[in-house]
Amino acid sequence: MNRVYNFSAGPSMLPLPVLEKAASEMICYGDSGMSVMEMSHRSPVYEAIITEAQSLLRSLMNIPDNYKILFLQGGASTQFAAVPLNLLNGSGKADYVVTGQFSKKAYKEAQKYGDIRLVASSEDKNNTYIPKLTREDFRPDADYVHICFNNTIYGTKWNYIPDTGDIPLVADMSSCIISEPVDVSRFGVIYAGAQKNMAPAGLTVVIVREDLMGKARKDIPVMLDYQTMAENDSMYNTPPCYPIYVAKLVYEWVLSLGGLEEMKKINEKKAAILYDYLDSTDYYIAPTEKEARSMMNVTFVTGDADLDKKFAKEADAAGLKNIKGHRSVGGMRASIYNAMPIEGVETLVQFMKDFAAANPKA
Ligand SMILES: *Cc1c(COP(=O)(O)O)cnc(C)c1O
Repeated sequence: MNRVYNFSAGPSMLPLPVLEKAASEMICYGDSGMSVMEMSHRSPVYEAIITEAQSLLRSLMNIPDNYKILFLQGGASTQFAAVPLNLLNGSGKADYVVTGQFSKKAYKEAQKYGDIRLVASSEDKNNTYIPKLTREDFRPDADYVHICFNNTIYGTKWNYIPDTGDIPLVADMSSCIISEPVDVSRFGVIYAGAQKNMAPAGLTVVIVREDLMGKARKDIPVMLDYQTMAENDSMYNTPPCYPIYVAKLVYEWVLSLGGLEEMKKINEKKAAILYDYLDSTDYYIAPTEKEARSMMNVTFVTGDADLDKKFAKEADAAGLKNIKGHRSVGGMRASIYNAMPIEGVETLVQFMKDFAAANPKA
């Protein structure tokens, strides 16, 4: 077995112990005589899996009792429509903050359904920072405020939770969920595609405050209605059974490390190895503002597009995979989610030093 360090932004690395456990149970789960992939989602053995996955996530994230956890399909992108369809039920107004491509897509999708205002955008500086907002920036009668908490493509993260007063705050946490503790009670809805930090692609986790459910538009597709999904324990139809099972293993793994406080320490340590090096050299530039830096997605450039290309190619040959930046940004991006071991980051930094020494700039 020759596993590489995979810096992909998603789908991304899963913890090796999780893959090993899944492999050991792949063909026959417990004494069920079948694979989890082959089970009826209504069987007692599968119901135990999904129930356990839910309760593990609840304890891991310390999710209050008045929030429902939904295991859905359609990716985070489906939530770009589900959020307005469920929540635009009062004034029909919502306020959006655009800090990257995913929040921009969410903003555009919502425009189909109501009076959607752009509160602030960081596009003026290529999304390298997070706007500073106060309660006064939001319309007091907005049905909700939407943000993207960690910007996967640009490598920024909100280092504060904006104060929206009584207005429900909705956050796309696809690329930072379960990377550190977050005060769930500050949010109305949290959603995340699982393929960055939780599971294989196919699962979308939605955490929704109960009082926000049951007021969806009448013409909402039933598959997008939080109330329907909650009433049916995410089993209105067939849920993404196998990704939910792997998510359960991932939650067990994070808990075995000591939970989110410990996970945060490990993630801080990994990110610091990379950022400390970036700050110590002139060879590479980290374009994001220091206070907005993401722990999960670290972006950097050499300042020379040809060198960047060479870097990505040689890194790949050295077993450091998928380090090329998003096609719209260029440069490099190292996604160092929970599952990336510290050795992967150390190996990357050593490679960066060697590359800089071997390719002096003119
Ligand atoms: C990857 C990503 C998405 C898109 O997720 P899909 O599951 O592919 O729809 C949305 N938001 C963020 C922050 C992401 O990182």
